[in-house]
Order: sequence, then C-alpha cells, then structure tokens
Amino acid sequence: MLPNFYYHPRMMSYDFGPRHPLKPERLRRTIELLQRYGLEPIDPGPGGQKYAMRVHAAEYVQAVEQLSGPGGSSEVDGYEFGFSAGDNPSFKGMFEASLAYLSGSARAAESVRDGAALAYGIAGGLHHARKAQAAGFCIFNDCAVAIDILLERFEKVAYVDIDVHHSEGVQWLWQHDPRVLVCNIHQDGRTLFPGTGFPDDRGEHFTIINMPVAPGTSGDVWLWAFEHAILPALERFDPQAIVLQMGTDSHWLDPLARVENSAQEWLAAVEGVQKLGKPIVALGGGGYNLTTVPRMWAAACLTLAGLEFENAIPADLAEAWGTPTFFDPEPLEPRGCGRLHAEQVVEWLHENVLPHL
Ligand SMILES: [Zn+2]
Repeated sequence: MLPNFYYHPRMMSYDFGPRHPLKPERLRRTIELLQRYGLEPIDPGPGGQKYAMRVHAAEYVQAVEQLSGPGGSSEVDGYEFGFSAGDNPSFKGMFEASLAYLSGSARAAESVRDGAALAYGIAGGLHHARKAQAAGFCIFNDCAVAIDILLERFEKVAYVDIDVHHSEGVQWLWQHDPRVLVCNIHQDGRTLFPGTGFPDDRGEHFTIINMPVAPGTSGDVWLWAFEHAILPALERFDPQAIVLQMGTDSHWLDPLARVENSAQEWLAAVEGVQKLGKPIVALGGGGYNLTTVPRMWAAACLTLAGLEFENAIPADLAEAWGTPTFFDPEPLEPRGCGRLHAEQVVEWLHENVLPHL
C-alpha cells in the first residue's frame, strides 16, 4: 500500500503541447504501473490559489489566471512573467492545471505536517518557478510551497533535489531562511539550464548545498558525490522533515542533460535519504524519456513505502512500453567519469560550508 499518494487525472492537463518535452504521458504510465502494485491514488481536489499565494507574488498568480483564459489576455504581458514560446508557452487552462499539481504536493505536505511519515505528490517537483515568473516548464513552485507547509509544524526542514537541473527557484525563495536547508546535486550550471547552482552560493546562513557534477559524469561518481556531500550535510543539519524532489533526468537515456546515471544508482540516493528516518514528502520532477521516468518513479515510490518488487515489469506493460525491467542492465560503462571535478567540489563543501551547519 502506498500511503498518502495524491494524484488525479486532471493533473494530466498540465500540457504545453505535443512538441514540448514535458509529456503528461510519463505521469499516466507511472500511475498505471504503480496501480499494478496496489496504488489507490487520493484525489487532492482541484486546489485553490491560497497554496500558490504562500510563495508567489499576488500579481503573478493573477497574471497566470488571466493568461489561462480562452485566447489568453490582452492586458497582461506574458513575457514579463516568464511565458514565451519555447520552454514556457502559456496555454488555455494552465491556471487550473498548475493548481492541480500544486494541490497534490500541498496535500502531501499537509499529511506529513499532520503526522504522516510519508506522502507523495508525484505530479509536482516543479522546482524552477520563481516568485513572479514561470521558468523551465514550471509555473507554480510546489516544492517551495511544501516547505512552507512543513514549517508550520517543524523547526528545521531540508529540501533534497536529485533532478539533473539545479532548483534555482527553490533556492531563491528559501535561501534567506535559516530553518531550511536546500540541497542540490545537478549537472554544472556552466553547461546546463538554468545556469545556476555553484558551491559558493552557500547562503548567509550556510544553508545552501550545491553539488554540481561535470557533464558526462558516470552514475558511480554521481552517487559517490551524493553520499559525500548531500548526506553528510543532512546529517549535520538534522532536519525534522524532508521534501525530496525526485527528478529522473540524470538517467543516461534522458535527452535533456548529460549525466550517466542508471536507475539503480539514482534509486540508491533515494534510499540514502530514506535511511535518515525522517518524514518525507516525495515529489516528482524532471525526466523526459518515457521508457525511464515511469519505472524510476515507480521504483522510488515502492521503495520509500518499504514495498518489495521484482525487477521484471508486468509483461503487458513491458511489451507496450519497451521497458522489460525497473533497473538497467549492469555494468554501465565507462565508470569513474567526472571524478576529479566531483572530488574537488566535495572537498570545498567540507571545508567551507558543512562545518557551519
Ligand atoms: Zn530537470
């Protein structure tokens, strides 16, 4: 049984169009796969703007609503709020669609705030949205909202982001609050959107942990860096609850970035967070290969719930999707790529940030 799993098909309406890489199909497949393991999703309801108002500017929330109407809005300049062709085209119904995924993450956070050990908002994890701007396929920052909700009960909250892109939206919204540790492991911003996330933005309270890895980094090194930078920071900070953003786009098959993770190396990071024994709000995030996202998310959700599963994916789904197993065949070669860069960053963080936690 997967507890407190908030999902409703209306979240599939978050759709920038057929040529956009963020495809609702990845969500549909994840749910279908998890239903074979007993998932019964809970409808979080359509949500309302009260959640968005926790971290976003009122004028931005209003602009999203106006741009979302039929034909958009002649009064609002979408460009000013981050909407433009390419990454973030505005679309009809985007206000309701954004509130829908936000509602799932917010309800998951409320469950943990109210005492649950684990809750899921797998349609969320949209970590790039800023206070008054859409960015990187993200309209409302459900990760930042989940943190805000947890702070109603917990004195210290950690945000852990394993998406291949740096979560500048979450960092900028929370970097001044000493109660929140924001941790990222991501492909170096000099080579990937959004171009942020350097180790020395450690924040005035030393609560920003940025662990960039070089393009081409292999999964063994990525996991080593996670275990030597992010986990020790979490142990030192000792949060009472964790928001875990589970972007899957560091997989070697992902088309948008160049980190060479296997599903099992990526999952080992999720397990590392789980072993800390803190309440977790588990969110989705990036991931653009339809053969990897559903199996990685399903594996992570089952693992977090302590449910055992065989490596083989149910035969009909395996055949329809071309994905026979949850995990990748081993070994993925070559190994050890990006080690020097990762070692230098880990050493720097141990000298300059971790001692202050
Ligand atoms: Zn991403």
